[in-house]
Amino acid sequence: MSKKCPSCRSENIEFEIGLKDYFLSQEDFEIWICNDCKVSFTYPFPPESEIQRYYSSENYYSHSDDKNGLIPFMYKIVKSFNINTKYKQVTEGMTPGSLLDFGCGIGDFLVHARSKGWSVHGIETNEKARRIASDKLNCEILDGKGLSHFPDNHFDLITLFHVLEHVYSPDDLLSNLLRVLKPDGRLIFALPNKNSYDAKFYKKFWAGWDVPRHLWHFNSESINELLKNHQMRKFRQLPMPWDAFYVSLLSEQYKKSIFPLPKALLVGLISNLKAFLSGQYSSLIYCFQFKRN
Ligand SMILES: [Zn+2]
Repeated sequence: MSKKCPSCRSENIEFEIGLKDYFLSQEDFEIWICNDCKVSFTYPFPPESEIQRYYSSENYYSHSDDKNGLIPFMYKIVKSFNINTKYKQVTEGMTPGSLLDFGCGIGDFLVHARSKGWSVHGIETNEKARRIASDKLNCEILDGKGLSHFPDNHFDLITLFHVLEHVYSPDDLLSNLLRVLKPDGRLIFALPNKNSYDAKFYKKFWAGWDVPRHLWHFNSESINELLKNHQMRKFRQLPMPWDAFYVSLLSEQYKKSIFPLPKALLVGLISNLKAFLSGQYSSLIYCFQFKRN
Protein backbone atom coordinates (compact mmCIF):
# COMPACT_ATOMS: atom_id res chain seq x y z
CA MET A 1 0.00 0.00 0.00
CA SER A 2 1.35 3.42 -0.85
CA LYS A 3 2.08 5.91 1.89
CA LYS A 4 -0.34 8.76 2.37
CA CYS A 5 -0.35 12.01 4.29
CA PRO A 6 -2.29 11.23 7.49
CA SER A 7 -3.81 14.72 7.38
CA CYS A 8 -5.02 15.31 3.79
CA ARG A 9 -4.57 11.73 2.39
CA SER A 10 -2.39 12.99 -0.46
CA GLU A 11 0.19 10.55 -1.88
CA ASN A 12 2.39 13.49 -2.83
CA ILE A 13 4.70 13.04 0.17
CA GLU A 14 8.45 12.72 0.59
CA PHE A 15 11.03 11.65 3.15
CA GLU A 16 12.38 14.52 5.25
CA ILE A 17 14.69 13.14 7.98
CA GLY A 18 15.46 9.92 9.85
CA LEU A 19 15.93 10.11 13.62
CA LYS A 20 15.56 8.40 16.99
CA ASP A 21 13.48 8.85 20.09
CA TYR A 22 16.55 10.14 21.95
CA PHE A 23 14.46 11.08 24.95
CA LEU A 24 13.21 7.66 25.93
CA SER A 25 12.90 4.53 23.78
CA GLN A 26 15.88 5.05 21.39
CA GLU A 27 13.64 3.57 18.66
CA ASP A 28 14.04 4.75 15.06
CA PHE A 29 11.46 6.90 13.30
CA GLU A 30 11.17 8.86 10.09
CA ILE A 31 9.66 12.23 9.36
CA TRP A 32 7.90 12.74 6.04
CA ILE A 33 6.49 15.92 4.52
CA CYS A 34 3.30 16.39 2.51
CA ASN A 35 3.75 18.57 -0.59
CA ASP A 36 0.03 19.34 -0.68
CA CYS A 37 -0.96 20.40 2.85
CA LYS A 38 2.69 21.16 3.79
CA VAL A 39 2.61 19.37 7.14
CA SER A 40 5.42 17.10 8.31
CA PHE A 41 4.53 13.99 10.23
CA THR A 42 6.18 11.15 12.12
CA TYR A 43 6.20 7.91 10.19
CA PRO A 44 4.91 5.56 11.24
CA PHE A 45 2.51 6.84 13.91
CA PRO A 46 2.74 4.46 16.87
CA PRO A 47 -0.61 2.70 17.37
CA GLU A 48 -2.78 4.77 19.71
CA SER A 49 -3.01 1.78 22.05
CA GLU A 50 0.80 1.86 22.53
CA ILE A 51 1.53 5.58 22.75
CA GLN A 52 1.40 5.72 26.56
CA ARG A 53 4.61 3.73 26.86
CA TYR A 54 6.45 6.62 25.16
CA TYR A 55 5.32 8.98 27.94
CA SER A 56 7.27 7.68 30.90
CA SER A 57 5.72 9.55 33.81
CA GLU A 58 9.13 9.40 35.56
CA ASN A 59 10.78 11.49 32.86
CA TYR A 60 8.11 13.61 31.25
CA TYR A 61 8.58 17.00 32.90
CA SER A 62 5.32 18.60 31.84
CA HIS A 63 3.49 15.90 33.79
CA SER A 64 5.32 16.38 37.09
CA ASP A 65 6.51 19.03 39.50
CA ASP A 66 9.26 17.33 41.47
CA LYS A 67 12.25 16.41 39.29
CA ASN A 68 15.83 17.38 40.13
CA GLY A 69 18.80 17.99 37.82
CA LEU A 70 19.89 20.55 35.25
CA ILE A 71 17.29 19.90 32.56
CA PRO A 72 14.23 19.90 34.86
CA PHE A 73 15.69 22.99 36.57
CA MET A 74 16.00 24.78 33.21
CA TYR A 75 12.52 23.57 32.30
CA LYS A 76 11.08 25.15 35.46
CA ILE A 77 12.94 28.44 34.91
CA VAL A 78 11.78 28.63 31.30
CA LYS A 79 8.26 27.72 32.32
CA SER A 80 7.95 30.42 34.95
CA PHE A 81 9.22 33.08 32.53
CA ASN A 82 6.97 31.66 29.85
CA ILE A 83 3.74 31.63 31.85
CA ASN A 84 3.80 35.32 32.57
CA THR A 85 4.91 36.23 29.04
CA LYS A 86 2.44 33.81 27.43
CA TYR A 87 -0.42 35.15 29.50
CA LYS A 88 0.24 38.73 28.43
CA GLN A 89 0.74 37.74 24.79
CA VAL A 90 -2.40 35.66 24.34
CA THR A 91 -4.80 37.85 26.32
CA GLU A 92 -3.65 41.19 24.89
CA GLY A 93 -6.66 43.41 24.28
CA MET A 94 -9.09 41.02 26.05
CA THR A 95 -11.05 41.46 29.25
CA PRO A 96 -11.04 38.35 31.48
CA GLY A 97 -13.78 35.88 30.55
CA SER A 98 -13.98 32.13 30.19
CA LEU A 99 -10.79 30.18 29.44
CA LEU A 100 -10.18 26.56 28.46
CA ASP A 101 -6.60 25.29 28.58
CA PHE A 102 -6.66 22.07 26.56
CA GLY A 103 -3.74 19.88 27.64
CA CYS A 104 -3.25 21.94 30.78
CA GLY A 105 -0.51 19.68 32.24
CA ILE A 106 -0.14 20.42 35.94
CA GLY A 107 -2.28 23.56 35.66
CA ASP A 108 0.20 26.41 36.13
CA PHE A 109 -1.18 28.53 33.29
CA LEU A 110 -4.70 28.16 34.68
CA VAL A 111 -3.55 29.22 38.17
CA HIS A 112 -1.97 32.34 36.67
CA ALA A 113 -5.01 33.17 34.51
CA ARG A 114 -7.41 32.69 37.42
CA SER A 115 -5.35 35.13 39.51
CA LYS A 116 -5.98 37.69 36.74
CA GLY A 117 -9.76 37.23 36.90
CA TRP A 118 -10.45 34.49 34.34
CA SER A 119 -12.96 31.73 34.91
CA VAL A 120 -10.79 28.71 34.13
CA HIS A 121 -11.30 25.15 32.93
CA GLY A 122 -8.69 22.51 32.11
CA ILE A 123 -8.57 19.30 30.15
CA GLU A 124 -5.65 16.89 30.54
CA THR A 125 -5.34 13.30 29.34
CA ASN A 126 -2.49 12.28 31.66
CA GLU A 127 -3.96 11.06 34.91
CA LYS A 128 -1.07 12.02 37.19
CA ALA A 129 -0.87 15.57 35.77
CA ARG A 130 -4.65 15.87 35.99
CA ARG A 131 -4.59 15.00 39.69
CA ILE A 132 -1.84 17.54 40.42
CA ALA A 133 -3.72 20.25 38.50
CA SER A 134 -7.01 19.44 40.26
CA ASP A 135 -5.32 19.73 43.67
CA LYS A 136 -3.62 23.01 42.75
CA LEU A 137 -6.77 24.64 41.41
CA ASN A 138 -9.13 22.96 43.84
CA CYS A 139 -11.51 22.18 40.99
CA GLU A 140 -12.12 19.29 38.63
CA ILE A 141 -9.84 18.96 35.62
CA LEU A 142 -11.54 16.90 32.91
CA ASP A 143 -10.03 14.05 30.89
CA GLY A 144 -9.80 13.90 27.10
CA LYS A 145 -13.51 13.30 26.68
CA GLY A 146 -14.37 16.35 28.82
CA LEU A 147 -15.03 18.70 25.89
CA SER A 148 -18.49 17.24 25.36
CA HIS A 149 -19.54 18.57 28.80
CA PHE A 150 -19.46 22.17 27.62
CA PRO A 151 -22.29 23.96 25.82
CA ASP A 152 -21.81 25.54 22.37
CA ASN A 153 -20.17 28.99 22.16
CA HIS A 154 -18.91 28.87 25.73
CA PHE A 155 -15.28 30.05 25.76
CA ASP A 156 -13.69 33.41 25.01
CA LEU A 157 -10.24 31.88 24.87
CA ILE A 158 -8.97 28.35 24.21
CA THR A 159 -5.28 27.65 24.56
CA LEU A 160 -3.23 24.63 23.46
CA PHE A 161 0.37 25.03 24.56
CA HIS A 162 2.51 22.37 22.89
CA VAL A 163 -0.47 20.05 22.52
CA LEU A 164 -1.64 19.88 18.89
CA GLU A 165 1.54 18.12 17.76
CA HIS A 166 0.64 15.20 20.08
CA VAL A 167 -2.92 14.71 18.82
CA TYR A 168 -3.78 11.83 16.43
CA SER A 169 -6.52 13.73 14.62
CA PRO A 170 -6.06 17.51 14.80
CA ASP A 171 -9.05 17.95 12.46
CA ASP A 172 -11.44 16.15 14.81
CA LEU A 173 -10.09 18.00 17.82
CA LEU A 174 -10.44 21.35 16.03
CA SER A 175 -14.06 20.62 15.13
CA ASN A 176 -14.80 19.86 18.78
CA LEU A 177 -12.94 22.91 20.07
CA LEU A 178 -14.58 25.27 17.63
CA ARG A 179 -18.02 24.14 18.78
CA VAL A 180 -17.31 25.47 22.28
CA LEU A 181 -15.52 28.64 21.14
CA LYS A 182 -17.55 31.86 20.99
CA PRO A 183 -17.88 33.39 17.50
CA ASP A 184 -15.52 36.21 18.51
CA GLY A 185 -13.30 33.95 20.65
CA ARG A 186 -9.61 33.27 20.26
CA LEU A 187 -7.91 29.96 19.63
CA ILE A 188 -4.22 29.82 20.53
CA PHE A 189 -1.55 27.25 19.69
CA ALA A 190 2.05 27.10 20.85
CA LEU A 191 4.10 24.79 18.66
CA PRO A 192 7.75 23.95 18.01
CA ASN A 193 8.92 25.50 14.75
CA LYS A 194 10.86 23.20 12.46
CA ASN A 195 11.99 26.23 10.43
CA SER A 196 13.92 27.70 13.38
CA TYR A 197 17.70 28.07 13.43
CA ASP A 198 18.06 25.58 16.31
CA ALA A 199 16.10 22.97 14.31
CA LYS A 200 18.39 23.46 11.32
CA PHE A 201 21.50 23.47 13.52
CA TYR A 202 20.73 20.28 15.48
CA LYS A 203 19.07 18.42 12.57
CA LYS A 204 18.14 14.89 13.75
CA PHE A 205 19.17 15.75 17.33
CA TRP A 206 16.75 18.71 17.56
CA ALA A 207 14.66 18.14 20.68
CA GLY A 208 11.66 19.83 19.04
CA TRP A 209 11.10 16.74 16.86
CA ASP A 210 10.43 14.68 20.02
CA VAL A 211 9.31 11.57 18.10
CA PRO A 212 7.10 9.64 18.48
CA ARG A 213 5.32 11.81 21.07
CA HIS A 214 5.12 14.54 18.42
CA LEU A 215 3.12 13.07 15.57
CA TRP A 216 3.03 16.37 13.65
CA HIS A 217 5.76 18.91 12.95
CA PHE A 218 4.22 22.23 12.05
CA ASN A 219 5.49 25.50 10.72
CA SER A 220 3.66 28.71 10.01
CA GLU A 221 2.56 27.51 6.58
CA SER A 222 1.16 24.11 7.60
CA ILE A 223 -0.71 25.42 10.65
CA ASN A 224 -2.36 28.09 8.46
CA GLU A 225 -3.31 25.42 5.96
CA LEU A 226 -4.88 23.23 8.66
CA LEU A 227 -6.90 26.07 10.19
CA LYS A 228 -8.05 27.41 6.82
CA ASN A 229 -10.20 24.28 6.47
CA HIS A 230 -11.96 25.31 9.68
CA GLN A 231 -12.70 28.89 8.58
CA MET A 232 -10.10 30.30 10.94
CA ARG A 233 -7.57 32.98 10.15
CA LYS A 234 -4.34 33.82 11.93
CA PHE A 235 -4.30 37.36 13.27
CA ARG A 236 -1.08 37.25 15.28
CA GLN A 237 2.12 35.21 15.52
CA LEU A 238 4.30 35.59 18.61
CA PRO A 239 7.78 34.51 19.69
CA MET A 240 8.65 32.11 22.54
CA PRO A 241 12.32 33.06 22.89
CA TRP A 242 12.95 31.08 26.10
CA ASP A 243 12.21 27.79 24.37
CA ALA A 244 15.33 28.15 22.18
CA PHE A 245 17.58 27.74 25.23
CA TYR A 246 15.70 24.83 26.72
CA VAL A 247 15.35 22.97 23.41
CA SER A 248 19.04 23.57 22.64
CA LEU A 249 20.07 22.18 26.02
CA LEU A 250 18.03 19.02 25.47
CA SER A 251 19.45 18.71 21.94
CA GLU A 252 23.02 19.01 23.27
CA GLN A 253 22.21 16.25 25.71
CA TYR A 254 20.92 14.01 22.90
CA LYS A 255 24.18 14.68 21.03
CA LYS A 256 26.05 13.62 24.20
CA SER A 257 28.12 16.77 23.85
CA ILE A 258 30.60 17.92 26.46
CA PHE A 259 29.87 21.36 27.99
CA PRO A 260 26.19 21.24 26.97
CA LEU A 261 25.16 24.34 28.91
CA PRO A 262 27.46 26.98 27.32
CA LYS A 263 26.87 25.50 23.88
CA ALA A 264 23.11 25.52 24.35
CA LEU A 265 23.17 29.10 25.58
CA LEU A 266 25.14 30.13 22.50
CA VAL A 267 22.90 28.28 20.01
CA GLY A 268 19.78 29.58 21.79
CA LEU A 269 21.13 33.11 21.57
CA ILE A 270 21.98 32.82 17.86
CA SER A 271 18.56 31.29 17.21
CA ASN A 272 16.83 34.23 18.87
CA LEU A 273 18.99 36.83 17.13
CA LYS A 274 18.27 35.29 13.73
CA ALA A 275 14.59 34.95 14.58
CA PHE A 276 14.44 38.62 15.52
CA LEU A 277 14.86 39.30 11.80
CA SER A 278 13.24 36.21 10.24
CA GLY A 279 10.42 35.54 12.74
CA GLN A 280 11.45 31.86 12.84
CA TYR A 281 11.69 31.36 16.61
CA SER A 282 12.31 27.93 18.15
CA SER A 283 8.66 27.83 19.17
CA LEU A 284 5.86 30.11 18.05
CA ILE A 285 2.46 31.10 19.39
CA TYR A 286 -0.24 31.31 16.72
CA CYS A 287 -3.45 33.27 17.44
CA PHE A 288 -6.55 32.42 15.37
CA GLN A 289 -10.07 33.81 15.06
CA PHE A 290 -13.03 32.89 12.89
CA LYS A 291 -12.95 34.52 9.48
CA ARG A 292 -15.44 37.34 9.13
CA ASN A 293 -17.45 37.48 5.95
ZN1 LIG B 1 -1.16 16.45 3.42
